[in-house]
Amino acid sequence: MFVASGAMAPAQPLRATILHADLDAFYASVEQLLDPSLRGRPIAVGGGVVLAASYEAKAFGVHGGMSGRRARELCPGLTFVGGHFREYQRLGDAMVDVLRDFTPVVERISIDEAFLDVTGSVHLFGPPAGMAAEIRRRVGAELGLPVSVGVATTKHLAKVASQVAKPDGLVVVEAGEEREFLDPLPVELLWGVGPATRERLGSRGIRTIGALAATSPATLQKLLGSAVGAKLGSLAANADPRRIETGRRAGSMGAQSALGRRVVSEQLLRAELGFLADRVATRLRAKGRAGRTVTVRVRFAGMRSVTRSVTLPWAISVTLTLAELGVGLACAALADEPGEREITLLAISVSNLVPESALQLELDLDARVDQQHRPGTRSGAARWASDRAMDRVRDRFGRGALGYGDVMFRSGRGVPDEFRELAEKDAAALPEPGAGHRHADERR
Ligand SMILES: [Mg+2]
Repeated sequence: MFVASGAMAPAQPLRATILHADLDAFYASVEQLLDPSLRGRPIAVGGGVVLAASYEAKAFGVHGGMSGRRARELCPGLTFVGGHFREYQRLGDAMVDVLRDFTPVVERISIDEAFLDVTGSVHLFGPPAGMAAEIRRRVGAELGLPVSVGVATTKHLAKVASQVAKPDGLVVVEAGEEREFLDPLPVELLWGVGPATRERLGSRGIRTIGALAATSPATLQKLLGSAVGAKLGSLAANADPRRIETGRRAGSMGAQSALGRRVVSEQLLRAELGFLADRVATRLRAKGRAGRTVTVRVRFAGMRSVTRSVTLPWAISVTLTLAELGVGLACAALADEPGEREITLLAISVSNLVPESALQLELDLDARVDQQHRPGTRSGAARWASDRAMDRVRDRFGRGALGYGDVMFRSGRGVPDEFRELAEKDAAALPEPGAGHRHADERR
């Protein structure tokens, strides 16, 4: 029996018109596309950490987020390849271009996946399932890549359906068939259920989404904490009122840290703004957005505060770049206030937001300025890619699994080496970044 877990079911469309398109084993598939000798072989993209594994490697238990060492143990024949980040971006963009041929209501959520709401296109293209099949055909023919598509009444369900469809498949969950589809599936297919949560649920015998939906909200919240418990309960009950976000809205994202009273030092600015930049940039990337204007606010002990901002010719979503710009702005603000020695609050925000898919990768011709901060340069692309890798590891193992910490500012050489060192530490042993901070996130 199914017991609704508190949340009211949202009004749902009469038809399953939400699509989730997700390229399969994306980085690995691109490498196999570029080098035919890699096809049919177990390969992994990455080095110290696996960013993506081909299906041949997944058969050995290799998966994204795993350390390279562990992957080699599981699959001795594994070949490490990779780093064609520009090709990843180009092909990810090309898929989105195909999707936009079916509807302008496309919400890109990462380099290789997007939601579409095709409600308004049915009269042009026919039933959503047919559009999904045509999308798969075109991506295969025009890009040479396999893509899986889920079709359902909500975003969450469409994403679950595309995961069930993998590899290279299509799953349609018609309106009214949701419970029948969800109930037998393992809990880890729900958004946000990683190994730790799965284990905790398993300890109570909760292994399927149906079992989760039948568990009382009180029990779930006791087991997982109130926020996670409530969220999972409503996802299991298939309550997902989120709309497709097309990224047309303006707005900003920011975060701030109340510091008490601290004597200002460059070290303090770097630590605090690094922490805040990590929060803001991670949320920007999760929303598929980037911004051109960076603003920093510094509040002094006497409650007076100053802000400094910079507007760039390009939009950014890279953690390290945001942190560096933030420190530069804070230093500029403090240089103008030589009398102030103590600060009580730091805040950073990014505005002038654009969809991240609007980022243009550029040729590496302009060596004059700001190589690291430009998204399209080799160095900028490396930062971008390592942030994506970090996001994936955190998605899987939790936010505390990895942090930038002090390494962020140690060198300007580029992030991949540092990221590799970080990723090889025992992820679970690292403390939650920013533990002990009082902070608030704000979004306007
Ligand atoms: Mg994918």
